[in-house]
Amino acid sequence: MAATALPQRSRPADDGVTRLDVIIVGGGFGGMYAVYKFNKLGLKLQAFESGNDVGGVWYWNRYPGARVDLPSIDYSYSFSPEIEQEWTWSEQYAAQPELLRYIDFVAKRLDLRRHFQFNTRVDSAVWDEDRQLWTVKTNRGDTFEAPFCIMATGPLSVPKKPEIEGLDRFKGRLMYAARWPHEPVDFAGKRVGVIGTGSTGIQIVQEVGRQAGELFVFQRTPSFTMPMRNVPIEPEYMAEVKRHYAGIREIARNSAIGGARPLSTRGFFTVTPGQRLALLEDSWNQGGLAMLGTFGDLMINEEANEHVAEFVRGKIGEVVTDPSTAESLKPRGYPIFARRPCLDTGYYETYNLPNVHLMDCLTDPILEATEKGIRTASGETELDILILATGYDGLTGALLAFDVVGRDGRTIQDKWKNGPRSHLGIMLEGFPNLFMTTGPNGPAALANIIRMSENDVDWIADAITHLRKNGLGSIEPSRKIEDDWMELVHALAKNSLINKAKTWWVGANVEGKPQGLTQFIGGFSKYREHCAAAAANGYAGHQIEPVRQAVEV
Ligand code: NAP
Repeated sequence: MAATALPQRSRPADDGVTRLDVIIVGGGFGGMYAVYKFNKLGLKLQAFESGNDVGGVWYWNRYPGARVDLPSIDYSYSFSPEIEQEWTWSEQYAAQPELLRYIDFVAKRLDLRRHFQFNTRVDSAVWDEDRQLWTVKTNRGDTFEAPFCIMATGPLSVPKKPEIEGLDRFKGRLMYAARWPHEPVDFAGKRVGVIGTGSTGIQIVQEVGRQAGELFVFQRTPSFTMPMRNVPIEPEYMAEVKRHYAGIREIARNSAIGGARPLSTRGFFTVTPGQRLALLEDSWNQGGLAMLGTFGDLMINEEANEHVAEFVRGKIGEVVTDPSTAESLKPRGYPIFARRPCLDTGYYETYNLPNVHLMDCLTDPILEATEKGIRTASGETELDILILATGYDGLTGALLAFDVVGRDGRTIQDKWKNGPRSHLGIMLEGFPNLFMTTGPNGPAALANIIRMSENDVDWIADAITHLRKNGLGSIEPSRKIEDDWMELVHALAKNSLINKAKTWWVGANVEGKPQGLTQFIGGFSKYREHCAAAAANGYAGHQIEPVRQAVEV
């Protein structure tokens, strides 16, 4: 890159502050790609990660049964044809150990780890208006400065402790799914409890139910889950994929969910009841998220949605032998796909095992944790191990967890007090040169996070290159383009059935959090178009400032 370096903002050389071009926070897929990209651009960078290694959510989530629920072929980096050719997936939906091996392979292949400080938390990031720099302090007491700061902190990195009294009293083993130990856990002969039946809880239940002495599943809201139908990837098929990766990626980038999967525009009521049933049966048999793509109006037509929900309830009834358990497992009162759809392997069958007990917390609520286990309205269940699969302070939790202070001393907590707002989920008015990947006002949780991370990092890299080439000091969205973006996000979200479920997608799982869908639901390909438009004409609509006079400190 023929870039002009920004003039060095002067400061004594021996002040213990490390001067950089870019600071990156987070070592998941977004942070790793950012490190690769900015290093390739010749920028001096430092990345921080609170874990002991790269991997983000896959580093922390080592619970039994953890597995990606997008096809591995989609859920992988596309920026490096070499990595695509050198890496071979063994299963259609890779399990967490294989995902970590992939992440390790990428980190080694691109020599990424040397740029990271592990076991390091960023405590604060403060914008210095005069010197056009971010000052970042870590929990190790070190200070770093750079004109650019990238928050690759991820939408799911702050586990949510449930509002259950007495958890600290529990004398058995208390385990967080999202902070799982690195050593294997022996469940044999143990009385195990699981609280939470989202994507995480479902994966744990179907695995631990087959290992534990007894398993008690404390379910408040049942989720809709569909068969994953995972299969090994045969070498011949993998070879085909490798030959055609370029085309597969192109389809993914131009799709609504960032994956090379069909999404129908067919309206539910445009086909006869018999045809609908045949389509639903077919998608059930295909497995994965095929059902989501069967009809185009499932998230805007409540009646169509209810038909599909009832179809899935019927499947639950066919599998679960005890009628009362089957009834409790059938989700009601919110639209299917308004909570993150889950994929399973024998989840409902697990409840036919004699050692697995469904504890319906809608009819028999949890009152408290005790020394021995969990007390519900009907009595105490004694446990040796209690697993919390109770979700995350999603989308905004990670950024709100430390001090981010922008122009005029304004904090991100203040800016987001009524809910997150930004331009494209990438930049924030009032916070110059601060960038997010997979931020809360982009497609965030609604599309393939790796496609999104690549898109966002590329956009950020182009913006930084633009500043450097033109000797400019800072960029931020104007109030107007941020307002326009948020208006579009809200207008699209307004009629979506997603608002009708109480989930982390709308902030409903964390007490006191502003409610409402703040993600861009217009689809990943449209999002990319908006990103490209925002960069056009020299980032028109952004507030771009020249490099200020260097200030002696
Ligand atoms: P989640 O979907 O937010 O589910 C949390 C569960 O905990 C819910 O069932 C919730 O019940 C329950 N819960 C929370 N507090 C509770 C309390 N005080 N008492 C009783 N139950 C309580 O969290 P998650 O399962 O960790 O999934 C989060 C996201 O991670 C997913 O949506 C997905 O995006 C991602 N994920 C992906 C995969 C994959 O790729 N395979 C796997 C796991 C997770 P209520 O709904 O009633 O509050």
